[in-house]
Amino acid sequence: MTESTPLTCPSCALGHPLDERFCSSCGMPLTYAGSEPVESPRDEAHGRARKIDPRFVEGELVRVAGGRHQAEAELIQGMLLEEGVPSILRRSPGFDVPDFLAAGPRDVFVPLAGMEVAQEVLLDANMAPQERAPGDPPPSDAQQAARLLVAILGGGALTALVTWGLIQLTG
Ligand SMILES: [Zn+2]
Repeated sequence: MTESTPLTCPSCALGHPLDERFCSSCGMPLTYAGSEPVESPRDEAHGRARKIDPRFVEGELVRVAGGRHQAEAELIQGMLLEEGVPSILRRSPGFDVPDFLAAGPRDVFVPLAGMEVAQEVLLDANMAPQERAPGDPPPSDAQQAARLLVAILGGGALTALVTWGLIQLTG
């Protein structure tokens, strides 16, 4: 079944065949189900669908933030999802990075209905974009970078601690 529906709706997790570009149910642009190799695509999609607040899926997609690379954009995406706001990531235009690389900036889009909440989330996290026109390079704000680094390193430290604990248990 997953072979025939490799594309997944980021909003309602509905599977679609490759020749579809938008969700037949809610109109969100479809993403590849296998684009996140760390987690099972199916569980990932279902987990997202559970968290998404149906009030925030209406309207056209608007850009609310930018990540300097895929991981940063996914971090923002995760923060938005915690508040029930679905989002999609797109490669920022004007950066000549091959599609298969995780490098290169990403734009984070949310449905218009979720924009206000998304902006509050980003403001709270001190990650709201500076005043700038769409298409400009993402901010290289040092504070934002430090914040993200803490978030990423925090996750890494936890993993290391768990790993260390396991070694102690088995050794
Ligand atoms: Zn959908």
